[in-house]
Amino acid sequence: MKNSFILSAFLCIALLFSCNEQMKEEVKTPMAKVEDAVIIHEEYTAPEPTTPEETEYYEPKVPVVGPATNGNIPSDAIVLFDGSSLDGWVHTEDNSPAKWHLNKDGSMTVADKTGNIQTKQKFGDIQLHIEWKSPLPVQRDGQNRGNSGIFLDGIYEIQVLDNNNNDTYVNGQVGAIYKQGPPLAMASVPTGEWNVYDIIYHAPKFNAEGGKIKSGTVTVLHNGVLIQDHTEIKGTTPYVGWPKNPPHGKGPLMLQDHGDDSRVSYRNIWVRPL
Ligand code: MG
Repeated sequence: MKNSFILSAFLCIALLFSCNEQMKEEVKTPMAKVEDAVIIHEEYTAPEPTTPEETEYYEPKVPVVGPATNGNIPSDAIVLFDGSSLDGWVHTEDNSPAKWHLNKDGSMTVADKTGNIQTKQKFGDIQLHIEWKSPLPVQRDGQNRGNSGIFLDGIYEIQVLDNNNNDTYVNGQVGAIYKQGPPLAMASVPTGEWNVYDIIYHAPKFNAEGGKIKSGTVTVLHNGVLIQDHTEIKGTTPYVGWPKNPPHGKGPLMLQDHGDDSRVSYRNIWVRPL
């Protein structure tokens, strides 16, 4: 009985001590105030509004854009390829008219060893929609199976590859920023079916001396799955060597002929300059 009394008294003292310490801790760390935030949003440092109207504004108006639903494209999109012609495209090497195959189903296909093609137009920051299809029958493996690529500003490659049951280095697999950033997921449809890339690209920025002051970024949805999440582009995407950062302005959209008879097809290509 005496022991039980001593034990209870001890527990009470321990509890009181613990509560006291907790209170001291709370006093030491008061709730953070808005003005204590590390990032200061200047527009919110004015005296606190007291009516809802003070935090609502109506200008400038937001542009109305027809949506990309039911097979439509956004009403302000620039169509780069709709299956009717290759007039907007030239070969990168010599600026000659694109010699890739124009197919009856509204797509185009890499013509063996004709070389990369690119748009005549130049863009910089864009929202890009592009559909692509790996060739059948399946041939070869690794990087030599259905390899192509989409080069943003004609420089930075987002990999196109038939990765179905076909392993390769992850920073060169389908959806990778080639040799830099693996995709977050592999979201390809079966070989021979149409894949969709929706890409948001922001170009890097350079100062007057040609030094890079801000990296480019890219976000990619592959068949509706996020595979690049505002990923930093660290420079060029060479097969051999480190990324480099030569200064550049707006560039074309370039599509790769990998040179190994990878007959990849493309269709429904449009952009919205940002
Ligand atoms: Mg490639």
